[in-house]
Amino acid sequence: MKKIGITTTVPIEVLLAEDYKVIDLNNEFITSDDYHHYIDIAEKDGFPKSLCAWIKGIYGVCIEKGIKEIVGVIGGDCSNTKSLVEVLKNKGIKIYPFSYPTNRRLSLVKNEIDNFTKLFGENSKKIEEIRKELGEIRDLAIDIDKLTYIDNKATGFENHLYQISLSDFNGDILEFKKDIIKKREEIENRKPLKQNLRLAYIGVPPMTADIYDFLETLDARVVYNEVQREFAFPRHHKAKNIYEQYYDYTYPYDVMFRLEEIKKQITHRKIDAVIHYTQSFCHKAIEHIVINKELDVPVLNIEGDKLNELDARTKLRLEAFTDMLLDRKGVY
Ligand code: SF4
Repeated sequence: MKKIGITTTVPIEVLLAEDYKVIDLNNEFITSDDYHHYIDIAEKDGFPKSLCAWIKGIYGVCIEKGIKEIVGVIGGDCSNTKSLVEVLKNKGIKIYPFSYPTNRRLSLVKNEIDNFTKLFGENSKKIEEIRKELGEIRDLAIDIDKLTYIDNKATGFENHLYQISLSDFNGDILEFKKDIIKKREEIENRKPLKQNLRLAYIGVPPMTADIYDFLETLDARVVYNEVQREFAFPRHHKAKNIYEQYYDYTYPYDVMFRLEEIKKQITHRKIDAVIHYTQSFCHKAIEHIVINKELDVPVLNIEGDKLNELDARTKLRLEAFTDMLLDRKGVY
């Protein structure tokens, strides 16, 4: 089976219709025990210290794993990916460009997906069949999400993992489907968790995935993971076709559009406060100014860099934040 790397969520249905095994390079990087090694490869090859760790990690994975083809999202996602893609192209890796349009219009999304489809052949019937097949797995991720915020049985980390994994279905749709069905059953048979604070996690997925377990030791649980949920396409059943599905996806578009869905979920999930994670050297950190102003629940901005676990200072800030929230809620 041909392998293709992706740098973020793309219309995976197009790639699966061409029988590719799709690998989300971010997941490959962050789940590796030796994740730091990938950053070292990039820095040795000249990537600056002052650059987001995700970009360096993706580069390192491509080089180390001998990835020959990737989809580079050069519009609507990350401004650094454009330069990354140029370096990878120069190294002989075949790049298939994809862009989310700057102006969110259905006709523009359609153009981009049609252009992307043409790069691989035009198999729109098969693409829709695959979209339907993936819809069944997306529904299972929705179940895990409901088990988090309605039944209070899934942890924040499980919610994160079983939604973020839908960017590439862990490279094997059938295996992933079996895994998520088993996980759903395991969670359903648990007793509800008892944390008093309900939190939202917004922003790019964390380098420091231990944040979820750490918060749970502080009587707080993440019951909404914004971007991870978008990666799983929770409103896929409302879309009549692939164009509408990717048009409805909030992550690549402007912060005010993202905030509409975030505000809806804050109310719907009875969220007490928001953790806004930003990555060092990421342009998206600037969005915190708007986010902080627009949300009417407390918002804490934390920043991650190269480490895959929380540092002492961030832990202290999370402790102080949750203490304040528990006081405010009159828990103690
Ligand atoms: S964290 Fe920011 S800079 Fe890094 S890859 Fe994501 S969008 Fe790009």
